[in-house]
Amino acid sequence: MNFDLTPEQELIRDTVRQFAKDRVAPVAAELDREHRFPYDLVAELGELGLMGLPIPEEYGGAGGDTVSYAIAIEELTRIDSSVAITVAAHTSLGTMPILIFGSEEQRKQWLPDLASGRRLAAFGLTEPGAGSDAGATRTTAELRDGRWVVNGAKMFITNAGTDITSCVTITALTGENEVSNIIVPNGTPGYEISPPMEKLGWRASDTRELSFRDAGVPEGNLLGPRGKGFQQFLEILDGGRISVGAMGVGLAQGAYDLAYAYAREREQFGRPISSFQAVQFRLVDMATEIEAGRNLVYRAAWLKDQGRPFARDAAMAKLYTGELSNRAVNSALQIHGGYGYMDEFAISRLYRDQKILEIGEGTNEVQRMVIAKHLGL
Ligand SMILES: Cc1cc2nc3c(=O)[nH]c(=O)nc-3n(C[C@H](O)[C@H](O)[C@H](O)COP(=O)(O)OP(=O)(O)OC[C@H]3O[C@@H](n4cnc5c(N)ncnc54)[C@H](O)[C@@H]3O)c2cc1C
Repeated sequence: MNFDLTPEQELIRDTVRQFAKDRVAPVAAELDREHRFPYDLVAELGELGLMGLPIPEEYGGAGGDTVSYAIAIEELTRIDSSVAITVAAHTSLGTMPILIFGSEEQRKQWLPDLASGRRLAAFGLTEPGAGSDAGATRTTAELRDGRWVVNGAKMFITNAGTDITSCVTITALTGENEVSNIIVPNGTPGYEISPPMEKLGWRASDTRELSFRDAGVPEGNLLGPRGKGFQQFLEILDGGRISVGAMGVGLAQGAYDLAYAYAREREQFGRPISSFQAVQFRLVDMATEIEAGRNLVYRAAWLKDQGRPFARDAAMAKLYTGELSNRAVNSALQIHGGYGYMDEFAISRLYRDQKILEIGEGTNEVQRMVIAKHLGL
């Protein structure tokens, strides 16, 4: 076995770590406080090739592997989850469906702008009545005079309403029990996007409710074969879980970094609190679990890069890192005492940003259901 990263993967780690430290860290608290979408950072990430990291170079991406992509998401989340989810949702959920299922014409039409970060894409699966039961899609798309006419609603869609969003790929019923994926460009008449939703965390990321009232798009906007939408989105979610797993590792690592520094600096009873074994044990448990979680995520990413089945491992990585990041932010805030409860301490933001990692792209319970199936239960 070889646990070493390749020189390219090391380079990605160093580049993103530096970027997160120099460019994201100074503005993360302000963006969160003002619920402000990080347009400038997205532009800079685009210039670095990080808005299309795993997209092939021929479509304007950086042609990186999944391990590199996971590392990039991990390093961004270590500093700020809003920026990380903006990149992860854009890449894994917005751009990937077009790369994997799109025709050559669709790839050429959409990918260069997306992979460069000039434009963003979203993925609209969740509906008000179809969350964990994602197959319960009620949105319809009816073929009329060479156009798909879409009616329905989507809920909690990341990146759907920014000034630079070009489209959302939605799941829709195109017949009885027939789900298909359709690309709906922003600006389509009848496609309405709510104001940004107010959230507990990820406050600088863009989350919207979408509604479609006779929104007509060209017939050619069907993505992949008609009726294959259900299988397609399951495949997309499998890949997306690697990036959300990477977010769990990054968030836990960021919480650990903050708690470690604070514990060595804060003195009580005449000595640094890091000298108390109870505090040390919290940090030790965090460090140990983070290593375990990181290995799960990298292994799932590596399997994907080898072209091997990875769905079980991605679900395990997502489940484990979601729960470990919960324990990590809780311990890290405890180590900060009352100061950790104050907005001016970054750990309070990480604490708020954590919970969604146990909900988005399949709740902990849904991951357990997926894993149970893989175990033959
Ligand atoms: C900030 C944010 C961003 C998001 N971004 C996107 C996006 O870009 N695109 C998109 O399509 N969606 C997105 N989502 C939606 C997200 O994927 C869903 O919220 C998630 O899948 C859960 O669905 P739900 O909220 O309807 O919860 P529900 O499905 O109603 O679940 C409620 C509770 O019931 C439990 N439950 C449900 N069914 C079962 C069962 N069979 N057994 C045991 N327990 C069960 C769940 O685990 C959960 O604890 C986002 C959500 C948020 C909050």
